[in-house]
Amino acid sequence: METCLPGARLGVLGGGQLGRMFALAARRMGYAVSVYTDQVGSPAAQVADSAVVGSYEDVDAIAGFAATVDALTLEFENFAAEAIAAAEGVTRVRPGRLALHVTQHRLREKEFLARRGLPVVPYVAVTNGSVAELGAAVAGFDGGCLVKTAGFGYDGKGQVALGRGPTAAGLAAAAALVGAGPVVVERRLELAAELSIVAARGADGAFVPYLPVINRHVNQVLDVSSSPWGPATTDASAGGLRLHGLDDPTGGLLTPVVLAAAVEATEAIFAGLEFVGLGCVEFFVAADGGLYVNEVAPRPHNSGHLTIEACAISQFEQQVRALCGLPLGSSAPLAPAAMANLLGDVWGGGEPDWAAALREPSVRLHLYGKAAARPGRKMGHLTAVAPDGATALARVQRARSALAKHRR
Ligand code: ADP
Ligand code: MG
Repeated sequence: METCLPGARLGVLGGGQLGRMFALAARRMGYAVSVYTDQVGSPAAQVADSAVVGSYEDVDAIAGFAATVDALTLEFENFAAEAIAAAEGVTRVRPGRLALHVTQHRLREKEFLARRGLPVVPYVAVTNGSVAELGAAVAGFDGGCLVKTAGFGYDGKGQVALGRGPTAAGLAAAAALVGAGPVVVERRLELAAELSIVAARGADGAFVPYLPVINRHVNQVLDVSSSPWGPATTDASAGGLRLHGLDDPTGGLLTPVVLAAAVEATEAIFAGLEFVGLGCVEFFVAADGGLYVNEVAPRPHNSGHLTIEACAISQFEQQVRALCGLPLGSSAPLAPAAMANLLGDVWGGGEPDWAAALREPSVRLHLYGKAAARPGRKMGHLTAVAPDGATALARVQRARSALAKHRR
């Protein structure tokens, strides 16, 4: 397919922070950017050349938007298959229909992974609304489980966690999910760590992974990510990745073999999905050292935000390159880095003290331009670089704590 060169107009479906950072990267490279968003003044629209406001269900409006751009990408995967098909009729859309179809539905995604022999967390599907089947599935996981809606979940939304001997309230919440549509009931693992592999795949099959990012979640939402790798780090595919003491939160489970296996699984998944673009695979490392694929995101990922400061080419520029058919850039690490999310909760005591956070000289502030700071809402993030991973993590957490500390 033809290369889409600077000066062309790139479209992005979705108006959130991922679209905003995509638009910033694309405009720096000389592209015009149009955003299709369901809200006036959305984070992406604020930095785009133009924006169209419409419903994410409006197939005709999305097809009409697609006809105005030279290439189209997404920052959010839950668009109707018909809308994507219609868009594909009028312009280049990356990633393609297959990747979106599989990844926007947990059950399809798990079946896809299991068919390819990739390790998924043991699960039972309940697709017929049966509360009796739900009860049997829950009883089958005596160490606790998570009930997750098959479609339209993110940041722990559409999920109910049930412990050993689940409460009546928990079961009622899970039954409500079952009543609303297909769910996946999944064993609750004792997690030693969470990892993600952000990677790009070109139309020619070229695969460029970033080095593994180590993630910590709080209340099922990403809290901090760290990329402890520096310029001297060897290539992941060579199995030469070795974490040092403090950088491995598991105290030794994140071996070179486990890290290389995650990169290999990501390559197999992207190839199987015929994925063209920039995406991410989330992994669990269980307390017994086992590696599981959690889920696949067919778009930039929160854990890849630190690539803006930490890597030669960021995940967002890589998304532009993959979309446009340009050569994929280097994912090489420039410095150990860490990222801390800023949720709306940070605004709990009034406007955060930005100057206090920026007293850490290597810390960078990213704010997404969202007006209402609701608890749990992703409002921005901080990134720090440092000579080593543990220092980067300490810096970014110190900066985030300072936001609330120095209040007048
Ligand atoms: P989302 O689409 O909201 O990101 P995930 O399935 O990735 O949903 O779940 C969010 C987080 O919840 C995970 O990153 C992990 O911290 C926790 N979690 C999800 N499933 C499990 C599980 N089976 N066992 C233990 N923790 C889990
Ligand atoms: Mg997730």
